Amino acid sequence: MVVRMRHTRAHTANRRSHHALKAQGLSTCECGAARLSHRACASCGRYKGRVVVDHASKAAAKAAKREKVKKKEGSKSESR
Ligand SMILES: [Zn+2]
Repeated sequence: MVVRMRHTRAHTANRRSHHALKAQGLSTCECGAARLSHRACASCGRYKGRVVVDHASKAAAKAAKREKVKKKEGSKSESR
Protein backbone atom coordinates (compact mmCIF):
# COMPACT_ATOMS: atom_id res chain seq x y z
CA MET A 1 0.00 0.00 0.00
CA VAL A 2 1.31 3.37 -1.00
CA VAL A 3 1.03 6.37 1.31
CA ARG A 4 -1.04 8.13 -1.36
CA MET A 5 -3.75 5.44 -0.93
CA ARG A 6 -3.87 5.63 2.87
CA HIS A 7 -7.27 6.53 4.34
CA THR A 8 -7.81 8.29 7.64
CA ARG A 9 -9.27 6.31 10.53
CA ALA A 10 -12.51 8.26 10.13
CA HIS A 11 -12.78 7.30 6.47
CA THR A 12 -12.25 3.61 7.31
CA ALA A 13 -14.76 3.75 10.19
CA ASN A 14 -17.33 5.44 7.98
CA ARG A 15 -17.00 2.70 5.39
CA ARG A 16 -17.23 -0.02 8.04
CA SER A 17 -20.34 1.52 9.60
CA HIS A 18 -22.37 -0.49 7.07
CA HIS A 19 -20.66 -3.83 7.81
CA ALA A 20 -22.77 -4.93 10.79
CA LEU A 21 -24.63 -8.23 10.41
CA LYS A 22 -28.40 -8.24 10.69
CA ALA A 23 -30.29 -10.89 12.63
CA GLN A 24 -32.27 -13.38 10.53
CA GLY A 25 -36.03 -12.83 10.47
CA LEU A 26 -36.99 -15.95 12.41
CA SER A 27 -40.57 -16.89 13.09
CA THR A 28 -42.11 -20.04 14.54
CA CYS A 29 -43.89 -22.48 12.27
CA GLU A 30 -47.24 -23.97 13.21
CA CYS A 31 -45.34 -27.23 13.82
CA GLY A 32 -43.30 -25.39 16.48
CA ALA A 33 -39.96 -25.26 14.68
CA ALA A 34 -38.09 -22.00 14.04
CA ARG A 35 -38.51 -20.96 10.41
CA LEU A 36 -37.03 -18.22 8.24
CA SER A 37 -39.71 -15.82 7.09
CA HIS A 38 -40.69 -16.14 3.41
CA ARG A 39 -39.24 -19.67 3.36
CA ALA A 40 -40.88 -23.08 3.62
CA CYS A 41 -40.41 -24.82 6.98
CA ALA A 42 -37.38 -27.15 7.01
CA SER A 43 -38.99 -29.67 9.35
CA CYS A 44 -42.59 -29.99 8.05
CA GLY A 45 -42.28 -28.37 4.59
CA ARG A 46 -45.25 -26.08 5.08
CA TYR A 47 -45.60 -22.54 3.76
CA LYS A 48 -48.63 -20.42 4.69
CA GLY A 49 -50.25 -23.51 6.22
CA ARG A 50 -49.94 -25.51 2.99
CA VAL A 51 -47.46 -28.38 2.48
CA VAL A 52 -45.20 -27.27 -0.39
CA VAL A 53 -42.21 -29.58 0.22
CA ASP A 54 -43.12 -33.22 0.80
CA HIS A 55 -40.38 -34.22 3.25
CA ALA A 56 -41.87 -37.69 3.90
CA SER A 57 -41.80 -38.87 0.28
CA LYS A 58 -38.41 -37.18 -0.24
CA ALA A 59 -36.95 -39.11 2.70
CA ALA A 60 -38.49 -42.35 1.38
CA ALA A 61 -36.99 -41.76 -2.08
CA LYS A 62 -33.59 -41.04 -0.54
CA ALA A 63 -33.76 -44.25 1.54
CA ALA A 64 -34.76 -46.28 -1.53
CA LYS A 65 -31.83 -44.82 -3.48
CA ARG A 66 -29.47 -45.66 -0.64
CA GLU A 67 -30.76 -49.25 -0.62
CA LYS A 68 -30.17 -49.50 -4.36
CA VAL A 69 -26.57 -48.28 -4.02
CA LYS A 70 -25.99 -50.68 -1.13
CA LYS A 71 -27.29 -53.61 -3.21
CA LYS A 72 -25.02 -52.63 -6.10
CA GLU A 73 -21.99 -52.44 -3.81
CA GLY A 74 -22.98 -55.76 -2.27
CA SER A 75 -23.07 -57.51 -5.67
CA LYS A 76 -19.69 -55.97 -6.52
CA SER A 77 -18.08 -57.32 -3.36
CA GLU A 78 -19.66 -60.77 -4.00
CA SER A 79 -18.02 -61.03 -7.45
CA ARG A 80 -14.55 -60.55 -5.93
ZN1 LIG B 1 -43.08 -26.55 10.28
